[in-house]
Amino acid sequence: MAITKLLIANRGEIAVRIIRAARELGIRTVQVYSAADASSLAVQLADEAVEIGPPAAKKSYLDVEAVLKAARDTGADGIHPGYGFLAENADFADAVEQAGIAFVGPTGEMIRTMGDKASARKAAERAGVPTVPGSDGVITDMKAATELTSQIGYPVMIKATAGGGGRGIRIAETPEEFASLAPQAAAEAKAAFGDGGLYLEKLIGKARHIEVQILGDGTNFIHCYERECSLQRRRQKVWEEAPSSALSDKVRDDLCRSAVALARAVGYRGAGTVEYLYDDENGEFYFIEMNTRIQVEHPVTEAITGIDLVAEMIAIGGGAPLSISQDQVTVRGHSIEVRINAEDPANDFMPYPGTVEKLRIPGGPGVRFDHMLYHGYQIPPFYDSLLGKLIVDADTRDKAIERLKRAAGELDLGKLKTTTPLFLALAEAGDVRRGDVHTKWLEPWLEANGHQLVNTGGNGS
Ligand code: ADP
Ligand code: ADP
Ligand code: MG
Repeated sequence: MAITKLLIANRGEIAVRIIRAARELGIRTVQVYSAADASSLAVQLADEAVEIGPPAAKKSYLDVEAVLKAARDTGADGIHPGYGFLAENADFADAVEQAGIAFVGPTGEMIRTMGDKASARKAAERAGVPTVPGSDGVITDMKAATELTSQIGYPVMIKATAGGGGRGIRIAETPEEFASLAPQAAAEAKAAFGDGGLYLEKLIGKARHIEVQILGDGTNFIHCYERECSLQRRRQKVWEEAPSSALSDKVRDDLCRSAVALARAVGYRGAGTVEYLYDDENGEFYFIEMNTRIQVEHPVTEAITGIDLVAEMIAIGGGAPLSISQDQVTVRGHSIEVRINAEDPANDFMPYPGTVEKLRIPGGPGVRFDHMLYHGYQIPPFYDSLLGKLIVDADTRDKAIERLKRAAGELDLGKLKTTTPLFLALAEAGDVRRGDVHTKWLEPWLEANGHQLVNTGGNGS
């Protein structure tokens, strides 16, 4: 049954994004919020708002009972989890559906299979999708695991099966390091993600991060082409684009087909992303994980395909079939997104919460700014530092980079320190302009150039 009242179990820019999609679909919205977010933009924009607890996420945005109670009290018939928080919590998805409410996302079962990274690797192998050489599921026996490391070769990556957001990953260069890091990593994963399960992967030295957007309604499955997110710091994406400039038509076709094959193999429902590492020297790609939710960087795909991914997932969540077929998905132009974080890039990206005293927002042709800001807004220190995403699109990649520079120059948040200077500098970097980057490109570049990334306010201020 179509959703008529949607509860948003998230905060920040993604909550605003979901409210906007719902409103255009004629769906009423309920925004839950912690005490720290009582005056957030999402709370202001939603039809109704319900406080669900104190600032600490564990006691508010991660409190399943509090979220469900807010849904029951307001008569919400759908819940959108956004990204992070409860978005990939299978028990939450089950609890929502058991309460007779539509979960805007896959079933708990699908999240268990694909959201758990070790289990997703197995599903990828079964679907014929190439994976990074590594362990067959989670490590249960250290002796066998150590033997495996010598087979796959050092360095190896130790990854938490429940990890995400760039966290829960360790690199071991030697068997000794592996022996000491593994127990440490398990304890940390248990504390951070509630699951100490670890698996192993060979470290791919020089690769691009390329991911495929998919949509499914349980019966039909399509892809909306790829995004490239090779510019990363601490395994977190900072700059994303679509399409990737590294793929031949043949590789693009193979990659997108493999993502659809995987979606079909699990009967996927909702929006999802299949992530790969791509070695452009030998043309091989390897599955690394699937995110069973909307991703931060979804707008670059929306820009080049014209598809409203959030509206589509809400409709599917309400039981509608996919509204588009594969041959209706076409790509036009090039889009880039950069993450505007409240962090000081000249000072090792130190978080920089504060008050928005000046706000000049970029605009003009080909510019979209998805954000949570308003004049006087106090940025709370309790959550991640993403303030907004600046998204540009143009006919060509070169023009998109010029547009990004122009738009980032317009953004002015007064005295607040943000990651904006990083993007102004990257837009001038030769390797970035040529598209000659990989996942380990940005960190050494920051070592050399980070101190110069000083916030000066926007152009002409
Ligand atoms: P998360 O769940 O934190 O997003 P991912 O498995 O997607 O974890 O990996 C995040 C990033 O870590 C990748 O984009 C890539 O830069 C790096 N990475 C992950 N696996 C490997 C690997 N086997 N070899 C080299 N780099 C990797
Ligand atoms: P995307 O692939 O959409 O860029 P990220 O991996 O950067 O997603 O994560 C998006 C958000 O979700 C970030 O705020 C990140 O901290 C959070 N996140 C992702 N996975 C987890 C997880 N397993 N536990 C906690 N937070 C997570
Ligand atoms: Mg990932």
